[in-house]
Amino acid sequence: MKAFQYVNPANEREAVAALGTERNRILPMAGGMDLLGLMKDYIVSPERVVNLKGLDGTITADGNRQPADGRDRQAADGSRQTGGLRIGAAAKIADVAEHADIRRLYPALTTAAEEVGTPQIRNMGTVGGNLMQRPRCWYFRNEEFNCLKKGGSRCFAVEGENQFHAIFGDGPCHIVHPSSLAVPLIAYGARVRVLGPAGAREIDLGEFYQLPNQNLYGETVLQPNEIVTHVMLPPTGPQKSASYEVRVKQSHDWPLAMASVHLVMDRDVVKSARVVMGAVAPVPWRAPGAERVLTGRPLNEAVAIEAATAAVAGARAMSGNAHKIQIARTAVKRAILKAAGLPVA
Ligand SMILES: Cc1cc2nc3c(=O)[nH]c(=O)nc-3n(C[C@H](O)[C@H](O)[C@H](O)COP(=O)(O)OP(=O)(O)OC[C@H]3O[C@@H](n4cnc5c(N)ncnc54)[C@H](O)[C@@H]3O)c2cc1C
Repeated sequence: MKAFQYVNPANEREAVAALGTERNRILPMAGGMDLLGLMKDYIVSPERVVNLKGLDGTITADGNRQPADGRDRQAADGSRQTGGLRIGAAAKIADVAEHADIRRLYPALTTAAEEVGTPQIRNMGTVGGNLMQRPRCWYFRNEEFNCLKKGGSRCFAVEGENQFHAIFGDGPCHIVHPSSLAVPLIAYGARVRVLGPAGAREIDLGEFYQLPNQNLYGETVLQPNEIVTHVMLPPTGPQKSASYEVRVKQSHDWPLAMASVHLVMDRDVVKSARVVMGAVAPVPWRAPGAERVLTGRPLNEAVAIEAATAAVAGARAMSGNAHKIQIARTAVKRAILKAAGLPVA
């Protein structure tokens, strides 16, 4: 890889001050699991790398914290937001997987964290790095292919090998979003705290990721001189939630498709639902059709099948990935059944 300068900031403000406004010239690095691979493959060649491993990596109760933007907020069940959890961006994925309060209150996040890669990857990779990892598309990752995302004129997946590519999103670039943590976090209505030269702001994680037709060369609203410092999970009321992933092999890989569901319950009936799919589109993909099917209904297998069918109603296969539609449908159905405590079939 190309030689680079290494900056070791003492705090988050120094980290931001060491960044710049030009894309990919100066890059933050947390665990380095993704960034170092990109650098070794000459997909990015930053002049300077800014170490973020020293940022806050604690997982704490969010208490009665006043949101950074001063706005009042409501939890998914309508109650005022006064609690929840706050995860420092430098927290390890393994810390999330093992955290007792996350397991108790946000089990869909625990499942997703437990299934990321391997124990080594979970011990090294951070929450911030996981949310910001670049797409796994083999054309994007291969130096030989000057694809759309790298300033080229075509998406090679359209006529090439596209068995792992998107079934939603309408291109023109057909990557799938790679973060397993983002999917349950969006289902729970998480927000991220972002720090830049002008100060901190909070962004709904559901509005953080951008489609290729909004931002072809990046995947998020984050500017090159901003970093993610924290993820905030809202408090939960009476709820059921779960994640379900389908993989080609059980470890050391990304899911073929995954789904997270968060169901706010009124006794036995779903009061409101959030259904999010992963690895099927360039961003974590909300399924409003499935959410409508679930709302106001009791949980049983027939409702789960109806909701899962609605979730993939708008999917469009490429030449080699029609199987992903059925797999995504199964992931949604099984996530609902798992959340409901029903047998997963
Ligand atoms: C074999 C294998 C299997 C894997 N399987 C999965 C899987 O199933 N699910 C899954 O989700 N992931 C999976 N991963 C990806 C792995 O989880 C990520 O590589 C890891 O989370 C990245 O974290 P990191 O801290 O090492 O990030 P880094 O490599 O340090 O950074 C990744 C990117 O994020 C940027 N960045 C890092 N931190 C911040 C921040 N705080 N603010 C702004 N930008 C930042 C960096 O500039 C870089 O572009 C797998 C990886 C491997 C190698």
